[in-house]
Amino acid sequence: MPEQISIIIPCYNEENALPLFYSEICRVADSMRDVSFEFLFVDDGSKDNTLALLRTFADRDPRVLYLSFSRNFGKEAAMYAGFCNASGDYVAVMDADLQDPPSLLPKMLDILHCGEYDSVATRRVSRIGEPPIRSFFARMFYRLINRISDADIVDGARDFRLMKRPMCDAIVAMGESNRFSKGIFGWVGFRTCWLPYENVARAAGETKWSFWKLFQYSIDGIVNFSQVPLSITSGMGLFFTILSFLMILVIVVRKLLFGDPVAGWPSLVCIITLIGGIQLFCMGIMGQYIAKTYLEVKKRPHYIIGETNKASADLVR
Ligand code: UDP
Ligand code: MG
Repeated sequence: MPEQISIIIPCYNEENALPLFYSEICRVADSMRDVSFEFLFVDDGSKDNTLALLRTFADRDPRVLYLSFSRNFGKEAAMYAGFCNASGDYVAVMDADLQDPPSLLPKMLDILHCGEYDSVATRRVSRIGEPPIRSFFARMFYRLINRISDADIVDGARDFRLMKRPMCDAIVAMGESNRFSKGIFGWVGFRTCWLPYENVARAAGETKWSFWKLFQYSIDGIVNFSQVPLSITSGMGLFFTILSFLMILVIVVRKLLFGDPVAGWPSLVCIITLIGGIQLFCMGIMGQYIAKTYLEVKKRPHYIIGETNKASADLVR
């Protein structure tokens, strides 16, 4: 039996990019003669013709499997569904818009065959074609999260990677509802080889990520992989407690020695609003963690599959 590679492709409204992607991945797969392929397309509740396209691919190509969600669950859920249903010896995740060049696959597989690494991940070395403000915030985010979390998250890392079966099993075992794959890949460990490449523009269609969505995703990343914000809130609490003790001392001593009446309600109002603001801010941070805990304990499924051509698929997980 030849080795098998499962390629997971999350697709959300990708009718324009999919035909290009499919012909490119077929070209690469045909050039790799000694491995067999399984293309696991995950339709993330697309509203366009993505599913119809996947059905036609599947009709004429037995390598094509598709899982179609009952609604849009997000790219993280789509990737998780892929990992849960992939059966290959090697598993790869790849975007449908050709921003993750399939032509890197042979090289990635060669690296894994050498035996020194368990996964090959890709990193874009440039952010050409991206709005500068977005690149700036992205850099800041990576610097921050690496300071405050124990998951090793590389700047410019893409979700595009090829891994061996044990790493895929480890990712499936991480069944948390709030998923941040870049952190999960780093957290499970394993020996990872980083492959740098130049950023490629989207082949067709539009990005599904607005600035606001990316911002929320970065907050998710921080809350999921770091407890440092909570420590900061306790630190602030301690600081203000000590400060207020000192201030009380000053006022009492001033009154006893100089008989100074304590005057000035404006200063009082300022202090109250300052401390009130900080308290609300800290409660907001705690709220983020509580909200995540709430979602986590409900144990809702990550995804629900409405239609698939894979006989043994995990329909709800
Ligand atoms: N995607 C998805 N569900 C979503 C949003 C995106 O499955 O809710 C898929 C999308 O079809 C693409 C990949 O995730 O294959 C990356 O999305 P996109 O190219 O829009 O992100 P960008 O490359 O701009 O970060
Ligand atoms: Mg893209």
